[in-house]
Amino acid sequence: MQRSRPRSPETSVVVQLDDTACAMRGCIKCPRLAEFRATQREREPLWHNAPVPPWGSRDSPLLIVGLAPGRKGANRTGLPFWGDSSGDLLMQALETHGALQVDAGQPRLRGVRLVNAVACLPPGNRPNAVEVQTCRETWLKQELLPKRTILSLGRVAHESVRKGLAHSSSEMPFSHGAVAKLSGRTLLTSFHPSPLNTRTGRLGPDVFIALISDAIQMADSSRSG
Ligand code: SF4
Repeated sequence: MQRSRPRSPETSVVVQLDDTACAMRGCIKCPRLAEFRATQREREPLWHNAPVPPWGSRDSPLLIVGLAPGRKGANRTGLPFWGDSSGDLLMQALETHGALQVDAGQPRLRGVRLVNAVACLPPGNRPNAVEVQTCRETWLKQELLPKRTILSLGRVAHESVRKGLAHSSSEMPFSHGAVAKLSGRTLLTSFHPSPLNTRTGRLGPDVFIALISDAIQMADSSRSG
């Protein structure tokens, strides 16, 4: 199935919906979030305004996990990290290292799959603990099963990945640049590339782009090794 969604008023993105995406679409396991996205749909009927499914091939060696869809980003376009300022830095980093190609406005990922810890837009960009747990148990855990390199962006994503893989906080402490090799997976952690973190200098663009390069190289070497 294909849908066209706006990235900006001038362009649209063709989004392929796989089985997971179709199954997620009607998910109402978090009543507060289901209600919130319904109000967003009334306000912006042309936007995605639904659970945002993972993006990228299922067998990609690198999985990047974010927090939740941004209102004008993934919630609008239907692609994780696509279309807002948090996503722009990640897309720039992926494009720099050959993991993203954009042809005629259509983005294509190579060797990387993107997903959020919480698939629905949360009010104020803050999912509660029950919503994070519910989405992890319902959807995120499936993404964590393959033995691959996983990069978590921000504390919420990091903690959800850690709990989903049943690792302790001493095995997987939250620390920018941390790398853990556990149960056949390489697990990396970064601050979230949000405008707040980049504006305040907590996460410089060059540092983030270098970290994405490291993650891609680790994923490639674990695939070939
Ligand atoms: S956040 Fe996840 S579990 Fe909750 S309603 Fe959305 S898709 Fe379902």
